[in-house]
Amino acid sequence: MKEIENKISLKLNADLKGYCTIHIGGNAKFLFEIFTSKQLYKVCIWCIIHNIKYKVIGLGANLIFDDLGYNGAIIVNKSCQILWRKNSAFVSSGMPVSKLIFDAQFRSLSGLENLSGIPATVGGAIYNNLGAFDCSFADCIEYVTCIDTKKLEQKIKANLQIKNKKINSQNLNLQSLNTDKILNEINTIDLTPFKSCITKIKKADCQFAYRDSLFKQAQNRYIILSCKLNLAPANKNEILQIITANIQKKIESQPLDYPSAGSVFKRIYFDENNNNNLNPNTDIKDQNIKGKALAKNYNNPTNVLYPAKIIDELRLKGLSVGGAQISEKHAGFIINTGAATQKDFIKLTDIIKNKIKSRYYLSPQFEVEFVPF
Ligand SMILES: Cc1cc2nc3c(=O)[nH]c(=O)nc-3n(C[C@H](O)[C@H](O)[C@H](O)COP(=O)(O)OP(=O)(O)OC[C@H]3O[C@@H](n4cnc5c(N)ncnc54)[C@H](O)[C@@H]3O)c2cc1C
Repeated sequence: MKEIENKISLKLNADLKGYCTIHIGGNAKFLFEIFTSKQLYKVCIWCIIHNIKYKVIGLGANLIFDDLGYNGAIIVNKSCQILWRKNSAFVSSGMPVSKLIFDAQFRSLSGLENLSGIPATVGGAIYNNLGAFDCSFADCIEYVTCIDTKKLEQKIKANLQIKNKKINSQNLNLQSLNTDKILNEINTIDLTPFKSCITKIKKADCQFAYRDSLFKQAQNRYIILSCKLNLAPANKNEILQIITANIQKKIESQPLDYPSAGSVFKRIYFDENNNNNLNPNTDIKDQNIKGKALAKNYNNPTNVLYPAKIIDELRLKGLSVGGAQISEKHAGFIINTGAATQKDFIKLTDIIKNKIKSRYYLSPQFEVEFVPF
């Protein structure tokens, strides 16, 4: 894959509001922007060597950062390489999904157009198994290439022991840090000893499910570098029509003129074999019976409930706490009307959860992810 060599950028004490779609959060101690998979790998190695916690993000379209910020390194992934081979694409994980969809349409290739209009990078789309209109990102995946950080940490420890050095964060005093020095240190990292920590995971082993994957389950063990996608030949104009119709539907139904992180809660599935979305502290069987009856009332397929419909029925649209407000346009979204904090967001979701629980005995699970300090 041809990689464009933009330089890694680093900001110290950077405001995270500009790195997530809902514009909430304090400052990150370190904020890196990387443009190639190699740079991503090197920054992760640097963080491990210095015992600095790190998190790789895409567009931050699903994230609610802590008001205190992030006491480590946020790595913004802008690795945007793509290689087409007939109906297949090898795509790096920082590629925006919207760009990928238009690139595929240009080549008369179909498979991802139902996901148009959703903000995501390929890495975030794999992690959350992005989905819409009965289509999910996993549908087109053959395999995912990623760094196994568990292996990497062991390898780094072993390497440092050979050189008689320790993993050390003590001598990294923020005040005395020099970004040029850090970047120089990162650029000189030799990746050769760490190649074996890159692993290819076949789709069958990725544990894709509704807004779920192995990568999410393993809680940041895997850093996604790229994937192979297989698409199907189709009529270029028909694909474009689907893209346009989907974007139009989103404009009509979602509060896109305000910052948000998309749907706050996951759909609730009532299925005796899959109780992931139900509250483990209550009687699951009872919840399934009540939920199925409720779903029937809403003319839904009998095993699924959309939290937005319940929130709408509870007449909670427009309710706000500080700068966080339940959207008037789409009850599933919480928008930032100005200066929302994570605290506002959480207080508002507590109200929603309590009302849903006392009325319907249901406990919807968060679709958004809270990033702790
Ligand atoms: C207006 C709006 C509409 C939305 N509509 C939908 C919708 O219809 N369907 C839907 O599914 N979602 C929707 N979302 C949510 C969001 O688009 C998805 O969750 C998406 O997957 C986020 O992608 P991202 O690249 O921004 O990931 P981020 O939000 O930046 O990160 C999400 C998680 O992925 C991890 N991650 C990101 N990149 C990597 C990587 N390379 N390696 C390892 N981990 C990584 C992060 O650490 C984090 O834990 C919507 C959001 C908004 C704002």
